[in-house]
Amino acid sequence: MAGVRLEGIVKKFGKTVALKGIDLEIRDGEAVVLLGPSGCGKTTTLRIVAGLERPDEGRVYFDGRDVTRLPPKDRNVAMVFQSYALWPHMRVFDNIAFPLKIKRVPRGEVVRRVRWAAELLEIDHLLDRYPHQLSGGQQQRVAVARAIVTEPEVLLMDESLSNLDAILRIKMRSEIKKLQKRLGVTMIYVTHDQVEAMVIGDRVVVMNFGEIQQVGTPSEVYHRPANTFVATFIGSPQMNILRGRIAGGRLEVLGGVVEGVGLPDGEVLVGVRPEDVKLGRGDLTFEAHVDFVEDLGSDSVVHLKATTGDVVVAKLTEGEPPSPGSRVVAGVYREKIHIFDRE
Ligand code: ADP
Ligand code: MG
Repeated sequence: MAGVRLEGIVKKFGKTVALKGIDLEIRDGEAVVLLGPSGCGKTTTLRIVAGLERPDEGRVYFDGRDVTRLPPKDRNVAMVFQSYALWPHMRVFDNIAFPLKIKRVPRGEVVRRVRWAAELLEIDHLLDRYPHQLSGGQQQRVAVARAIVTEPEVLLMDESLSNLDAILRIKMRSEIKKLQKRLGVTMIYVTHDQVEAMVIGDRVVVMNFGEIQQVGTPSEVYHRPANTFVATFIGSPQMNILRGRIAGGRLEVLGGVVEGVGLPDGEVLVGVRPEDVKLGRGDLTFEAHVDFVEDLGSDSVVHLKATTGDVVVAKLTEGEPPSPGSRVVAGVYREKIHIFDRE
C-alpha cells in the first residue's frame, strides 16, 4: 500500500486551467473523497494520480517515490470508471482476469485471484455470464472486482456509483467503504454527491474551479466550513447565508443581536444551517412570517421571511410544523452561527 502526495499540480487544457496548484497528502490506507461540482477538476486529478494525464507543473509521489513521469502500468494503481468499461465480448471471469493476464500472472494464480475478488464482491455465481446478462449493480461489482484483483496500492474511483438507482447507491456506498477498510488500500474516490462523500471519506477534499477549498474530516467540513462555498455545498437543504454586521464585538443579523462575538468590526456573511434554526428563542432571536412549508413526514422544511426581509430556511424535526401565513419567533444558538468574510 502507498501514501500519495500531490505537490503544486497545475494542469491546463488549451486556455482552460483545470487545476490551479493542487497540494494534497493522502495517508497510506486512507479513503479520501474529492467532492465538488461538475468541471471543478476531480477527474483530472484522478487521471494525474493514475498516470493517464501528465501535469504541466508539480509532482506526484507514492510513498515518497516520484512517479510523475511513470506510465500507468508502472504505478500499481487501479481505476474504476463511471461507465464501468467492461469488455462486452468477455465473460465476467475474463473481464476480472484481464489485468492479471496483462501482467502475465500464471494461470493457477489468475484463477485463485479472480475467485478471491469475485467472492469479496459477492459475484462468484456470475463468472460465466457476459456483461449484458448482468444488472447495472452487478456490472458495477465486476468493475470493482477487476480493479482490486491486482491488489493495487492505490484504488481510484470516478463517480463509480452514479449510474445506479438511488437505493442501490446507498447500499453500495457503505459496501465500498467496508471493502476499502478490509483491503487497507489507499483510495481516492470522486463524487459530486455530498452525502456519498461524507459516508465514504475518512477525509473530504472540497474542490471548486480547479482549487482545493478545504480538506477535513466529514465532521470538520460540516461543522467548520472554511468559506461560504464549502458551507453551502455541504448539507441539505443548503446553509442560509445572511448579511450581517459586527460592531463593538456584537453581531447584528436578522434584526437581532448576538453579544460577545469578539471579531473586528465590519460587514460579514452569517451562515446558519436549516437544521439549527429552532422555533422559540435562541442566542439569536428573530420574528418571521411563515411563507411556505414542505412537510416531509419525518421532518418539515419551512421557509421563513424575517421582518428584515431575509429568507431563512428551517428544517424542523420536532412537533407540528407551523401553518403557512402564521407568525413565529425563531432562534439559533451561538455555537451554530458561522461567520464568514464578505467575499
Ligand atoms: P470534474 O471531473 O470535476 O467534472 P474535470 O476534471 O473533468 O472536472 O474537468 C476540469 C476542467 O477541465 C473542465 O473545465 C473540463 O472541461 C476541462 N477538461 C477536462 N479534460 C479535458 C480535455 N481532455 N480537454 C479539454 N478540456 C478538458
Ligand atoms: Mg469528472
